[in-house]
Amino acid sequence: MVRTIEGTEALTADMTAWRRDLHAHPETAFEEERTSDFVAEKLASFGLEVHRGLAKTGVVGLLRNGEGPAVAFRADMDALHIHEQTNLPHASRNPGRMHACGHDGHTAMLLGAARHLSAHPNFQGTIAFVFQPAEENEGGGRVMVEDGLFEKFPVEQVYGMHNWPGLEVGKIALRPGPIMAAYDIFELTLTGKGTHAAMPHLGTDTILAGTQIVNAWQTIASRSVHPVDSAVVSVTQFHAGDTWNVLPATAVLRGTTRTFRKEVQDMVERRMGELAKAIASGFGVEAEMRYERRYPSTVNEAGATELARRAAAGVVGESGLDLDPMPSMGAEDFAFMLQQRPGCYVWVGAGSSDGGRNLHSPHYDFNDAVLPIGLSYWVRLAETVLPRAA
Ligand SMILES: [Zn+2]
Ligand SMILES: [Zn+2]
Repeated sequence: MVRTIEGTEALTADMTAWRRDLHAHPETAFEEERTSDFVAEKLASFGLEVHRGLAKTGVVGLLRNGEGPAVAFRADMDALHIHEQTNLPHASRNPGRMHACGHDGHTAMLLGAARHLSAHPNFQGTIAFVFQPAEENEGGGRVMVEDGLFEKFPVEQVYGMHNWPGLEVGKIALRPGPIMAAYDIFELTLTGKGTHAAMPHLGTDTILAGTQIVNAWQTIASRSVHPVDSAVVSVTQFHAGDTWNVLPATAVLRGTTRTFRKEVQDMVERRMGELAKAIASGFGVEAEMRYERRYPSTVNEAGATELARRAAAGVVGESGLDLDPMPSMGAEDFAFMLQQRPGCYVWVGAGSSDGGRNLHSPHYDFNDAVLPIGLSYWVRLAETVLPRAA
């Protein structure tokens, strides 16, 4: 049974209005100017000390209540480059931009928590409410860390959440250890000798070499990774050739890999390079590989996960907890914050993902039924991770 914080009906109505306002005005990586103003104004009006400028559009609101430890609660603020197709009254008014990952909801829930906790500071210590830009692709979480987030705001732990379609509303999923994967990208450039398509023996075929490499890379997960460990190698682009009757001199392959553990990540990068070089050379083609590490895997610390579990149970009950969810091969730049401080990242059930209600779909809309649950989780978490007010 879900037990949300009592007396928050008016706040839930406000969070709903904020969420829809943010949804109608989506902004993407490091351009979250309006969103940043919106958040900063709200935090100031709740009486928090507001700090701006970290990672350009990032906002940190500090709520102090006497002496005690300090923790950070984090929400992401950015939207995606997607043409919204929901036809909702609060649909995007910025063409080509859309809150299709629910960061509008994350922002509204953390603002709600800031307002509630400033009015009912049932804790001793400091909470840093961290609103970060550019979670999608550009690693705003990393930039906040590089800009000195944890030096300026020396918190002991950091917590995050994401709404999760496919998990029932009223459920919260969490687990110690990896919960989301490391996300890397790669680009392989093959250079051979172009030739007439009817005279292949006069050249070296980059397309043929490329297809063999794509196949061979699929053996990394099946033959190089331990059978109970995980890795994904996905070639998502294969560019070569311009016409019917020419074997092209170059081919470019791009894609992404996902792993959970550093050892596996290192091995995947190494094996991709080895296979590409060896196969290309067998075909008389040169291979140049660029491999770039984007986001590390999101790893929950055991102690913080236990505190998050207690806070979540206070909201959704023991029966509402999923303590062993299958980790996602998706990625999350909250991982950079978890590399600096122990903490926990949870999934808050957002209901069915049918009919395009999944993350990054042009038909997605954050489920407002999640707002009071996310709010209640943050409030219970504050009371769980910090000492109660005397
Ligand atoms: Zn997303
Ligand atoms: Zn997201």
